[in-house]
Amino acid sequence: MRKDDALVSFVVPFLNEKDNLPVLTDRIGKVLAGGSARWELLLVDDGSSDGSTDWVREHAGIIPGSGGRGVIRLVRLSRNFGHQIAITAGLDRARGDAVVIMDADLQDPPEVIPDLLDKWREGVDVVYAVRRSRQGETWLKKTLAAGFYRIFHALAKVNVPMDAGDFRLVDRCIVDALRQMRELHRFMRGLTCWVGWKQAAVYYDRAPRLAGETKYPVWKSARLAFDAITSFSAAPLRWIVGLGGIMMVVSVLWGLWVWITVALGGGKNLQPGWASLMVGLVFLSGVQLLCLGMLGQYVSRIFEEGKHRPLYFVAEDSGASSAPETPGL
Ligand code: UDP
Ligand code: MG
Repeated sequence: MRKDDALVSFVVPFLNEKDNLPVLTDRIGKVLAGGSARWELLLVDDGSSDGSTDWVREHAGIIPGSGGRGVIRLVRLSRNFGHQIAITAGLDRARGDAVVIMDADLQDPPEVIPDLLDKWREGVDVVYAVRRSRQGETWLKKTLAAGFYRIFHALAKVNVPMDAGDFRLVDRCIVDALRQMRELHRFMRGLTCWVGWKQAAVYYDRAPRLAGETKYPVWKSARLAFDAITSFSAAPLRWIVGLGGIMMVVSVLWGLWVWITVALGGGKNLQPGWASLMVGLVFLSGVQLLCLGMLGQYVSRIFEEGKHRPLYFVAEDSGASSAPETPGL
């Protein structure tokens, strides 16, 4: 199975990456030209509107110059479902013995692929590409990302390697496991770790985006981080219980202190403290709203998962005839 001529699928979700896709195809082709691996480049169109769909449709089929070993396949989703769902759609349809997940903007350099394949051939089932450095990204995003990985590490009891994005190679057994996990709020990096098997890392320097704009502004990254934490850890709920407990104890002690002071004949200086009362009231209302909101987030996730909707719909698949039929469910 892990032979040199194994079939390797590349799952590349893209949203408006017209200028990047031809370069990506070219560079992957060059990297694999020396070896004997066969590959399918599964380009998952997540609702593009810049003409990149047309480019992929035109080039679907055997890649010229690949000696018949490389194929481009277009999987077009019916609308924009988001990066993590697009990866899922690609994994569901990939046929490779090994599957490499990578971004379309060349921030994940194709030149790392041979390292990933080598580790896989040594018997590793999940090979993460861990970022040694990140170029061309804002200071804010880098700092928040570093902070997130550390918090996630501490909260979720899943051993997600720090500073690894979605760029990774997974063996067929991992793909089959992931296909059984149909939750809506998906944090693929967490899920690929959660399933187990043999995992190892290779290191690389993250390149700046080749062309176009990032589709992950800070607020969208923050949403992914929130999804990641709430889908892997109930710790925030425990914090709420802890916070409530501490406040109860503090308020009882405070009441006792006032009672004892008055009982001992003191308290003459106790003013009808309107200001402190208000501060306390507003503070407590804030805490209550925060806790309610946190609970609400978990409840809304139960609501959404309870609908059991398909995760996505595929509008077009240029390799459908030979692909295994996998519903989005
Ligand atoms: N992407 C996608 N759907 C989306 C947003 C992004 O398929 O809704 C793709 C995008 O085209 C790229 C990858 O996901 O191939 C990563 O996005 P991006 O490079 O914008 O994120 P960043 O690297 O800046 O975090
Ligand atoms: Mg990017």
